[in-house]
Amino acid sequence: MTIRRIGVVAFVVVLALVPLAAPAFWVTLANYIGLYTMVALGLVLLTGVAGQTSFGQAAFVGVGAYTTAFLTTHFGVSPWLTLPAAIVLTFAVALALGFITLRMQGHYLPLATIAWGISLFFLFGNLESLGGHTGVTGIPALTLASIEFKEERHFCVLIWIVTLASLWTTHNLLDSRPGRALRAMKGGVDMAEAFGVNAARLKIVAFVYAALLACVSGWLYAHLQRFVNPSPFGINQGIEYLFMAVVGGAGSVWGAVVGATLITVLKQMLQDVLPTLLGRSGNFEIVVFGVLMIVLLQFARNGVVDWALRLLPRRRPRLDDDAAPLAPGEKPHDVAGPLLDVRNARKAFGGLVAVDDLTFRVMPGEIVGLIGPNGAGKSTTFALISGELPLTSGDIAFGGQSIAGKTPFAIARLGIGRTFQHVRLLPAMSVQDNVALGAYRRGRAGVVRAALRLDSAEERRTQAVAMREIVRVGLAEHAHDEAGSLPLGKQRIVEIARALASDPSLLLLDEPAAGLRYMEKQALAELLRALKRDGVTILLVEHDMDFVMGLTDRLVVMDFGQKLAEGEPAAIQRDRRVLEAYLGVDEAAPAPAIAI
Ligand code: ADP
Ligand code: MG
Repeated sequence: MTIRRIGVVAFVVVLALVPLAAPAFWVTLANYIGLYTMVALGLVLLTGVAGQTSFGQAAFVGVGAYTTAFLTTHFGVSPWLTLPAAIVLTFAVALALGFITLRMQGHYLPLATIAWGISLFFLFGNLESLGGHTGVTGIPALTLASIEFKEERHFCVLIWIVTLASLWTTHNLLDSRPGRALRAMKGGVDMAEAFGVNAARLKIVAFVYAALLACVSGWLYAHLQRFVNPSPFGINQGIEYLFMAVVGGAGSVWGAVVGATLITVLKQMLQDVLPTLLGRSGNFEIVVFGVLMIVLLQFARNGVVDWALRLLPRRRPRLDDDAAPLAPGEKPHDVAGPLLDVRNARKAFGGLVAVDDLTFRVMPGEIVGLIGPNGAGKSTTFALISGELPLTSGDIAFGGQSIAGKTPFAIARLGIGRTFQHVRLLPAMSVQDNVALGAYRRGRAGVVRAALRLDSAEERRTQAVAMREIVRVGLAEHAHDEAGSLPLGKQRIVEIARALASDPSLLLLDEPAAGLRYMEKQALAELLRALKRDGVTILLVEHDMDFVMGLTDRLVVMDFGQKLAEGEPAAIQRDRRVLEAYLGVDEAAPAPAIAI
C-alpha cells in the first residue's frame, strides 16, 4: 500500500469513530466540516483548478436549503423528493448564471459572483413565502426505512457518506480527460483550446458541478438544523467557503477537507479563547483569519495540502504497455491536394495590416518554414491558421475544407497541432500529464463518465499514448518529472510531444528553436527530420536561418505582412530581396550567405 492509500484508510477509520465514540460537541463539528467540505470541494474544482473565482457559493447552499424547506413545510413533500427538485432548480439557476457571468474575464467574474450572491441572499430574506428574515421552521427530519435521522450522530453518518462520495467523484474527475482540460485552463483558455477543449462549455460544466455540491450541502443542512434563515447563505459565508478552498489548497480534493476542518475548528477555538483573552466579546476571529490569510498567501500560496504533499514521494502513474491504442485523430478527407491552403489571407489591426494578402500552400509530408524579420507578421499568420484571430479577408483551407471563422478548438479537433512561441506548459503537472492533454481530441470521456470512473480503459490508453510520444521525442527519463522543473529546451520538446499526442495531420511550430543552445538546436532539427520521415507535415515559424536551411523543403519569406519570396532554402539564401529585408544589404554590396 502506498503512503497515500494508508492516509485515506486512516482518515476513513478515524471518521468512522466520530459518530461511534466522539463527544457530542465533536460530532456537531464533524457534521459542519462535512457540509462545508462539499462546498469547498466545488471551489477546489472551480477556483483552484479551473481558475474561476466565485464568492457566491453560499447562495447555492441557500437554494438547496430553501427548496426543501419550502416544499416540505408548505406542501408536505417528502424530503427525498425535494432533493431532485433542489438539484434541478440549482442546475437551472447555475446554468443561467454561468452562461451570463463566466464569459467575463479578470476581476469582473468575482464581482459578478458577489453581485448574485448578494441578490439571492436578499431574495431569501424578502420573500414572504420563505419566511423573510426569520426563516422557515418545522422542517421534517429525514427518515430512511425505519431510521429517523434526528440525532446528530446518525446524521453524521449520512453527511459523511455523501461527503466521501463527492470526494471520490471529484478526485476521479480531476484525474481524467475533462480534469486535464480544466487544469489546462489555468494555463490560459487559448492554450486549452489549442488541444480541442471547448473552454466556454467546460467552465459552465465546472460551475454547475460546484453549484450542485453546494446545493446538496444545503439540502442536508436544512434537515440537520430543521429550520433555515438567510444568514448562513450570505456573502460572508461565501467568502469563508472560498477561504477554506484557498487555505486547504486547490490542487487536490484533500484541500477541501483540510481547509474546511482548519477553518471550522480554528473559528470555534478562537471564538472561545479570544473573548476571554481580550476580556470583551466581539468577532475577533475574523481579524485573526484575515492576518492568517495574508501569511498563508505569502508562504504557502497553493495551500497547506499542496505544501504537505510535496513531502511525500511523487506518485508514479502506472503504465500499461499493452493498452490498446487510442483511436487515431480525425484526418482531413481530401489528402490529394494541399494540406494547408492560405489564400489571400489578410489581417488588419486598425490601420496596421499585419498580414497583407498572403498566399502559400503546404503539401502533405512537407516541412515548410515561414521566415522573416521581427514584426513581419509570422505569428499573426499562425494565429489566423489556428483560429485565434479572425481573418479580415481571404480564406484558409485545411485538407480542402475552409477553416475561416471556425473556433480554435474546432480547428484543433480537425487535426492541427501546435506549440507556442512562449512555452505554455502546466509547470506543476508531470510531463506525462501535460502530454496526455494533447490527446484530448482523441478521447470521449465526459464529466459524468470521468466522475464515476467509467473511463479507466480510455484513460489507460491516453496515458499509453502520452508515454509513447514522450519516448518518441526522447524524454522518457523525464516522464514523471514536473514539467516546470525541466530546462527550457526540454520544455519545448514536451510541447512538441503534447502536440504529437493529438495525432495531428499538420504541426505548427512557433519559433521552436528560440532560446535553445547549439546542441539543443541540433537535437531538435534531428527530431523534426525524424517526424518528417514518419509522415508528419510541419509548418514552422523561425527566426534562425541556419536552423531552417538544412531542415525545410521550402521557405516562405515574409516582410511587412507580405510574401517577399518563396522557394527552396538554397535559392532563398541567394535572393537579394530577402537579404535586403533581413540585413538591410544594399545593391552594391556582395551577397553574403545568410547566417543569423
Ligand atoms: P512576427 O511574428 O513576424 O515577429 P507579428 O505577427 O507578431 O510578427 O506582428 C506583425 C505586426 O502586427 C507587428 O507590427 C505587430 O506589432 C502587429 N500586431 C501583432 N499583433 C497585434 C495585435 N493584437 N494588435 C495590434 N497589432 C498587432
Ligand atoms: Mg512572432
